[in-house]
Amino acid sequence: MTFDELGLSQKVLAAVEASGYTQPTPIQEQAIPPALQGRDILGIAQTGTGKTAAFVLPMLCRLEQGRARARMPRTLILEPTRELAAQVEASFAKYGANHKLNVALLIGGVAFGDQEAKIMRGADVLIATPGRLLDFYERGKLLLTNIEILVIDEADRMLDMGFIPDIERICKLVPFTRQTLFFSATMPPEITRLTEAFLHNPVRIEVARASSTAATIRQALVATHGHGEKRETLRRLLRGAENFKNAIIFCNRKRDVAILHRSLDKHGFSAGALHGDMDQLARMASLDAFKNGDVTLLVCSDVAARGLDIPDVSHVFNFDVPTHSEDYVHRIGRTGRAGRSGTAVTLVTGEDRKYLDQIETLIGNKIDWEGPGLDELPPAEETPRPARGRERIRSGERSRRPAAAERAEPARARPRRPSESDTRPPTYGDRRDRRTPRPREDDGPPVIGLGDHIPSFLLRPVVLKPAKVGEE
Ligand code: AMP
Repeated sequence: MTFDELGLSQKVLAAVEASGYTQPTPIQEQAIPPALQGRDILGIAQTGTGKTAAFVLPMLCRLEQGRARARMPRTLILEPTRELAAQVEASFAKYGANHKLNVALLIGGVAFGDQEAKIMRGADVLIATPGRLLDFYERGKLLLTNIEILVIDEADRMLDMGFIPDIERICKLVPFTRQTLFFSATMPPEITRLTEAFLHNPVRIEVARASSTAATIRQALVATHGHGEKRETLRRLLRGAENFKNAIIFCNRKRDVAILHRSLDKHGFSAGALHGDMDQLARMASLDAFKNGDVTLLVCSDVAARGLDIPDVSHVFNFDVPTHSEDYVHRIGRTGRAGRSGTAVTLVTGEDRKYLDQIETLIGNKIDWEGPGLDELPPAEETPRPARGRERIRSGERSRRPAAAERAEPARARPRRPSESDTRPPTYGDRRDRRTPRPREDDGPPVIGLGDHIPSFLLRPVVLKPAKVGEE
């Protein structure tokens, strides 16, 4: 099938041709015709399938008629993260090159003023993260009564981030008669409930199961002990990686992203970081530095990395085994894109067996071990128990200079340009991310009671007075 057969307008077809696309992808082929007829769509598709164009192209056709009024956008696209919102805005610039449309972006971490000016001018397309959208709405700066098309993208990621109550609220604020285009990579029960409540007789399109991993990705497991040894294992793998161009490294927790980033930096690797607590400018700077090749490693959390379209990544490292097996599929899907080959290596400790089993069940395959498996791993070296978390960074490791061999071998490190992420400290305390289930820590054995430190007042001898007669 060709794009000409889908019913798109001449202006849109010209932009598609200019983009160099010759054939619609399966989701585009199946979603565009019913979307043009005004039908609701339930698209079960991951990033990388061409789903953005599947909703942007029919929206552009629809927007050729009519115009927007001040404070009353005509279409609304909800995205879970700022990066995805910015990516969709870029798609409108690309596919809407022949249209004169006002596209406004409402995302957290950016000053209100410019965003407000764009909405006041009248936005044909409003691309927003749910929190910032509701902020604007509550301040009376935005009316949703003219929305003709509502797009909810990456719904399962919205669920992970605790956005579903916001989405439900927004769905009730837009007119009942709007068209809804709904996309999710997976369909957990909460998402199914949402679609039942807010979609009207949708056309259901499923293009790839979330459990499928591309055949172009070589997957491997590497057994390791936890603590500092895990970082050492990662450094060894990075230095020995074949056909290496660049790598995304995933951690389960935001705090570990920051720790690992600092550690790689200290060991001479060229690395950036991306996690939900960094401010918008720092996130954009990190992402750009990675895309441009200014840094070769990007340490990420799942939320920050979901859906990012970063073509041509040679390696993915799972520093932590993901606790949600579907995240494994999403993570390794960052490499091996567009038919290229890629490598995905997962570091596994003894505590990860359960999660590894779940992943192998989901993908329907056993993943090969590179080197000894967990059961053959020699016992960890007898070293003093590492200091926990913050304590460790404050004292020992940060001030320790890298060993001579490490200093002499900054394998993949390129000369670093200071990026914004170096100078801007992450801001902690995002209320939404606290709703995300917390994976376990791998910072050492749990500290029971007061741990190693006993306050001195508890060590003072206690003098007990003899009880008086009559007292219990
Ligand atoms: P998405 O799933 O929307 O993130 O798209 C993934 C990538 O596929 C983007 O880099 C798009 O530019 C590209 N793409 C989208 N549609 C097509 C198409 N019909 N032919 C070739 N590439 C496409």
